[in-house]
Amino acid sequence: MMKKLQHMRRSNFKNGITVLFFAIIVSPIFAQNKDSVLISSIVKEATEHSQLEKLAHELLDGIGPRLVGTPQMKQANDWAIAKYAGWGITAKNEQWGEWRGWQRGISHIDMVTPRVKSLEGTQLAWCAATGAKGVTAEIIILPDVADSIAFKNWLPNVKGKFVMISMCQPTGRPDYNWQEFGTKDSFEKMKKDRAAQTEAWRIRISKTGQTARTLQTALENAGAAGILTSNWSAGFGVNKIFGAVARKIPVVDIALEDYGLLYRLTESGIKPTINIRTESKELGMVPTFNTIAEIKGTEKPDEYVMLSAHFDSWDGGTGATDNGTGTLTMMEAMRILKIIYPNPKRTILVGHWGSEEQGLNGSRAFVEDHPEIVKNIQVLFNQDNGTGRVTNLSGQGYLHAYDYLGRWLSKVPANIKDQIETKFPGTPGGGGSDFASFVAAGAPAFSLSSLSWSYGTYTWHTNRDTYDKIVFDDVRNNAILTAILAYMASEDPEKTSREKTVLGINPRTGEKATWPAQTKATRKGGVN
Ligand SMILES: [Zn+2]
Repeated sequence: MMKKLQHMRRSNFKNGITVLFFAIIVSPIFAQNKDSVLISSIVKEATEHSQLEKLAHELLDGIGPRLVGTPQMKQANDWAIAKYAGWGITAKNEQWGEWRGWQRGISHIDMVTPRVKSLEGTQLAWCAATGAKGVTAEIIILPDVADSIAFKNWLPNVKGKFVMISMCQPTGRPDYNWQEFGTKDSFEKMKKDRAAQTEAWRIRISKTGQTARTLQTALENAGAAGILTSNWSAGFGVNKIFGAVARKIPVVDIALEDYGLLYRLTESGIKPTINIRTESKELGMVPTFNTIAEIKGTEKPDEYVMLSAHFDSWDGGTGATDNGTGTLTMMEAMRILKIIYPNPKRTILVGHWGSEEQGLNGSRAFVEDHPEIVKNIQVLFNQDNGTGRVTNLSGQGYLHAYDYLGRWLSKVPANIKDQIETKFPGTPGGGGSDFASFVAAGAPAFSLSSLSWSYGTYTWHTNRDTYDKIVFDDVRNNAILTAILAYMASEDPEKTSREKTVLGINPRTGEKATWPAQTKATRKGGVN
């Protein structure tokens, strides 16, 4: 592989000289030839020497999920630096804040009576540890109390018990399965019943006078042994796994099937007991970083083409599609550019952001810390909505985005470009992912928005967001697209316009829409 690469570099160099010679005579043709030679080299490198599978394996299987404040997040930061160094690209970890440090440990949940069964579930992020023996206790279901006073009177009942605070789902089959096999009547009835039950559960929680968050603290303070949740994601086998609120007792998420089992046994008076063992570690406050890599510009080193993808993840799975795939896309694009286009006109930067999941914190901090870069961003491309090939690109409300994005896209091979639906001038994104941090600062930043592959149900923040969900051909498509757009943006003789459209009336509020304002990064996180 190494030999082939060297050979290719040499032949590119030769082409370069030949083309340069003609350039003196016919420069428009030169530009066209140069573009098409370079672009086909990008496609060839991405197709024949793809590193995506290897990178995915090392990052997702080897290091694992990348929750802010965990040693794995730091390990991933260091891994990226080493990868870039191996490709001859300068990279650094830039500290922007600190976070409550925590390390996931063994988490094991077993039903002990009326029969033994190991249950599918896991501790939530930042969950307290129980020690190696764990805690064995009975279960109590959050009751339907009349009001907050009745709740206070009931609270002593939780002492020494695990409290179930999620609804018991009436079906573990996703809707598409009902639609395929159920009668129309039974499907409609199930949906109606489920909607009523969901609403009743919402009211049950609100009648306690607590929110879903403060409820955990109230139960903890009343001496509960732990808290059981089940955040079903409406597909077979998927739960969303977020963070615990309670600080001293275990908070676990249990898969729909096992949560239903415990709920029904408790409800029917069988009084199951379970053992929960969580062995995570608190690590105090730890520094948080963005990993920034750079290929220095030769003609306009102080203008920046920026690639962007958050590096952190939730930790129920391995963050494969949120945002492993965005990360891989940008790393692979950088690797390819360094080989095919090592001396860009403008500086090419990549930002692998920390703590996007808690509120775009890494990218917001970067925008605050580097006004000189933000001011001179030619363009930024962010990818963060799953493994699919890019199918949507909005102009984010920039009046002339059509001109330059259209100009660059025209050079992208048809099989990649033809799938992309563009929207110009579009409206500015106020959040959702890191491009919004830059849009809020007036920089031309765009989201390479991908096809869903059931992202929302099956992988986004779920326990099933793992290597096997990656569709590598689509990620390769995106790495090629990103590398070509970065090349075109770097070469463009014109600096991009930042002129904004006048926004119309927001149909939801009836008021004139405004451009999103910059939001401050949380620099000290997880403290309350
Ligand atoms: Zn994400």
